[in-house]
Amino acid sequence: MGQPRIGIYPGTFDPITNGHVDIIGRGTRIVDRLIIAVAANPGKEPLFSLQERVEMLLEQVSLMRNGDGSRIEVRPFDKLLMHFVQDLDATIILRGLRAVSDFEYEFQMAGMNTRLDPGVETIFLMASERQQFIASRFVKEVARLGGDISSFVPKEVAARTARKLAQQDRKFA
Ligand code: ADP
Repeated sequence: MGQPRIGIYPGTFDPITNGHVDIIGRGTRIVDRLIIAVAANPGKEPLFSLQERVEMLLEQVSLMRNGDGSRIEVRPFDKLLMHFVQDLDATIILRGLRAVSDFEYEFQMAGMNTRLDPGVETIFLMASERQQFIASRFVKEVARLGGDISSFVPKEVAARTARKLAQQDRKFA
């Protein structure tokens, strides 16, 4: 048997959505060990702290069926993705692809990453039709405006988002 295949699924996960959960499930069928890499990404001014985003991911991983969760790790990172990938001896970067909107950005990033390390392959996965249109950005917007986000995110995440926004409202009141 060869080396275990290690894949990294990087993102901001602010917060994790059903789209991410779908991609994580597919990822576990492709790699032996899946490392979900949570980007600190302060430039994006995330709603949730890095620690909260990691906690929400860990919670969803622990709820995964078939024991797949045992092959998944969640780790924060704040360096160049390719350096993080190399540190962990990973050979695959997993990314999700939504319709046409993600293509341009993902195409450029995969191209640059290949130039940085040709030994690392980026693999794109599509979520099931029902989850494809979900984006963390819109989930936050819908929640902020009082909409129901329960069909876009896991229920634990919906509850946390509601609490977070209520906290923020109190802060700015
Ligand atoms: P980033 O800040 O890198 O865009 P995100 O947390 O938004 O991070 O997403 C991480 C990865 O998951 C990206 O490759 C993104 O395209 C993918 N993704 C997010 N939502 C979906 C979805 N609904 N279906 C498929 N892929 C998705």
